[in-house]
Amino acid sequence: MFDLQGKVALVTGGNGGIGLGMARGLASAGATVVVVGRNAEKSRQAADALTQEGHRADSIEADVTQEAAVAALFAQVERRHGRLDILVNNAGTTVRKRVEELSLDEWREVMDTNLTSAFMCSKAAYPLLKRQGGKVINIGSMLSLFGAPYAAVYGASKGGIVQFTRSIATAWAVDKIQCNAILPGWIDTDLTQGARAQVAGLNERVLARTPSGRWGDPSDLAGVAVFLASSASDFVTGTAIPVDGGYSIA
Ligand code: NDP
Repeated sequence: MFDLQGKVALVTGGNGGIGLGMARGLASAGATVVVVGRNAEKSRQAADALTQEGHRADSIEADVTQEAAVAALFAQVERRHGRLDILVNNAGTTVRKRVEELSLDEWREVMDTNLTSAFMCSKAAYPLLKRQGGKVINIGSMLSLFGAPYAAVYGASKGGIVQFTRSIATAWAVDKIQCNAILPGWIDTDLTQGARAQVAGLNERVLARTPSGRWGDPSDLAGVAVFLASSASDFVTGTAIPVDGGYSIA
């Protein structure tokens, strides 16, 4: 039921952090995983690491905020692998500022990276996914659910991810394409190392509020990614699943 042998998965931002955690899970379940990022060397190293672990992996350089780069990316996937079964829209960034301090360029950068990229990649993937049916997994956040003073644009982008997921889930159910979101809690990655450095007391607040009593590890996202990528979830669509050690229910 969880077997992904013969499937091709593309993970944007798959060269590190949560993306690599999910890529490793998908590859362990048998998928060929295409790791995508702007940093070609980091992506190559991630794919090499997966290959050395006995998995099938490839890397492609692309900036998913650029429409032409996205078109070229999916054309390349089709040329190299002949199919696409699983798309994980994970690439993300943040600018931690109060709304009154945020510039329009900063707003656009975060929206383009976190939300518009998911639109462009999903649209470009659709003809490939439609051939045999497929899975889209979008990465939201606790800030898809909650507000925070320093997260005006990040929260807007991640709230948008949940509604975008519901829209494509309803549109593409007929094509046997299931679309779901994962809402990670506080996971220890480069992104949150930055937050810890910038926001005094964050580490202690996260530990105090998370019932599991720890930060998440990128590997904590692997299981839910495999579930949402596999036939085990064929009647699950439009959901947003927290993977947060209980943060959102405490
Ligand atoms: P990282 O900063 O470790 O990883 C971000 C990834 O996105 C990198 O692989 C980066 O690769 C890629 N990326 C960024 N911009 C682009 C772009 N324009 N084109 C292609 N790739 C891009 O962050 P995390 O692993 O923490 O975050 C991954 C996702 O999870 C994000 O969507 C984030 O919002 C979300 N998330 C993270 C949480 C956490 O606690 N860590 C909590 C909730 C959600 P490169 O630099 O090579 O382009």
